[in-house]
Amino acid sequence: MKIGVLASQGAFIEHIKTLNKLDTEAVPVRLPGELKGLDGLIFPGGESTTISRLMASYKLVDEIDALAKDGMPVFGTCAGMILMAREISGNTTQSLGLMDITVKRNAFGRQVDSFETQLKIQVLGEKPFPAVFIRAPIIESYAEDVEVLARLDDDTPVAARQGKMLGAAFHPELTDDLRFHEYFLKMASGKLN
Ligand code: GLN
Repeated sequence: MKIGVLASQGAFIEHIKTLNKLDTEAVPVRLPGELKGLDGLIFPGGESTTISRLMASYKLVDEIDALAKDGMPVFGTCAGMILMAREISGNTTQSLGLMDITVKRNAFGRQVDSFETQLKIQVLGEKPFPAVFIRAPIIESYAEDVEVLARLDDDTPVAARQGKMLGAAFHPELTDDLRFHEYFLKMASGKLN
C-alpha cells in the first residue's frame, strides 16, 4: 500500500514516520503528478489558510477532488480536517468539501490553545487515545451519514468518518500511539465497512 502525505506545509514528516512504523510506504505530495498510484492521502496539520493557498497554486485541488470522488481514502488532521470540510464557519478559506462537516477554526481560543487529553475512541478499542490539540478546530455540525468517532467531555465532536473520509481535530501523528493511522489504513484497504 502506498499513501501520499500532502507536503505543501505543516507536520507532514511526522505522518510519514508514523506510516513507516506501520510498514507502509509513504510519499510526500507537492505536485499533481505525485498523486498517481496512491491508495490514500493524508492532509497534515499546519496552517489551513497557507496549505489551501499552496494547494491552489500548485494546481492540486481539482486532481485531489477528482480522486476523492473516485473513492480515494483521505485522512485529515487538524488543519487537514479543516481543509476537508464542506464548510468553515465564519471563514473564507477555500476548503475542498470532501466531508459533510462544518468546522470552526481555533475553537479553543488563546487561553488554552494547546492541550492533551485522553479520548475514548470506541473504534480503536478500550484503551483511551492520547489526543494532542494545537490551536485545534472542532466539528460544529455534521450530516446524518457522518459517524462521530470521538467527543470531548462536553460532547463536542472532534473526530469523524464519512465513508472513506476521516478527520481528526487533534494530532495522532505526534504521539507514539499508532492506532488512528492503523484505522485509516484498514479503511483504505477496504477492511472496514
Ligand atoms: N489553527 C490552524 C488552522 O486553523 C490549525 C492548527 C493545526 O493544524 N495544528 O489552520
